[in-house]
Amino acid sequence: MAARILGGKEIAAEIKREVADEINRLKSDHGFRPCLAVVRVGEDPASAVYVGNKVRSSEEVGMISEHHHLPEDTSHEELLALVRSLNSRDGVDGILVQLPLPPQINDREILESIDPKKDVDGFHPVNVGRLSQGEKALVPCTPAGIIEMLKRSNIKIAGQNAVVVGRSNIVGKPMAMLLLQENATVTICHSRTRDLASVTRQGDILVAAIGRPGYIRGEHIREGATVIDVGMNGVSDSVFARELFGEDEIGRRLSVIEKRGFTLVGDVNPKEAKERAANFTPVPGGVGLLTVAMLMKNTLDAAKLRRRI
Ligand code: NAP
Repeated sequence: MAARILGGKEIAAEIKREVADEINRLKSDHGFRPCLAVVRVGEDPASAVYVGNKVRSSEEVGMISEHHHLPEDTSHEELLALVRSLNSRDGVDGILVQLPLPPQINDREILESIDPKKDVDGFHPVNVGRLSQGEKALVPCTPAGIIEMLKRSNIKIAGQNAVVVGRSNIVGKPMAMLLLQENATVTICHSRTRDLASVTRQGDILVAAIGRPGYIRGEHIREGATVIDVGMNGVSDSVFARELFGEDEIGRRLSVIEKRGFTLVGDVNPKEAKERAANFTPVPGGVGLLTVAMLMKNTLDAAKLRRRI
């Protein structure tokens, strides 16, 4: 079986178009545009790229975007003061503090200081609690994007066996909650799961969020399953790359390694997944592209909920 490749590019563009249309409507009917404030501390190069993408996307969809870039030696109290001032400004609809933060700052306390109504990352305990109670909540962007991808690709969720590998607060746990809300029968696996392959093979839908390149092999995948690969890992070893990619892709991957020093690989072995799955998300070009689009949608939803529109 050759899997259908579920690309994220078109779905992300569709979501952003819908958000942009709704922002235009809000502007003409209610006289405002939602505002997303992104906070970055220090000079982590990956964070700079992520924040740049978020700011650019906000502008693309017609949102107001604020970028607060603080120096590496910012104290916990200074960051807390900035979050509190953003909480109190009526014009700010969404607040995102980019992780990781420097060691002198207590991440958890900062994330919990964000007004839950403006918590567009969906990490605040109030939103986590609401999600687990099946109530309206701001939901972490990556798992929310995966649900959009499944729905927009006409993949049935209700009544299906869904297996999530990984139990992080950012991906695994909220993913499992959202699949449950969509009436899947959900199993969560982690590093202590016994005989992982026998459990993952039960999955009509298999979501891998582990952080280990190519870890999910053909033997883990039910024939005809939908495999969602959340992983984002750099692989620089060309011998290992040959185990992951077939003739159709290996040439391009090796030249990427030569040029950039690494190629981006998910948690699933793509060569083997393509042979067994019915649907498969590529890395790059899969669910990763949906995360920023869902951040735009979360900010729009936060603006409408808080302003009771
Ligand atoms: P994480 O916090 O490190 O969590 C990894 C999870 O995988 C843990 O629950 C861990 O189990 C489990 N695990 C590790 N080794 C395992 C094994 N051998 N068998 C079964 N489970 C195992 O990672 P994360 O933040 O969820 O991210 C996961 C991956 O997704 C990473 O590659 C990350 O880069 C990527 N990611 C992508 C996006 C995107 O936008 N596309 C967003 C976020 C993350 P324990 O709990 O038992 O340790």
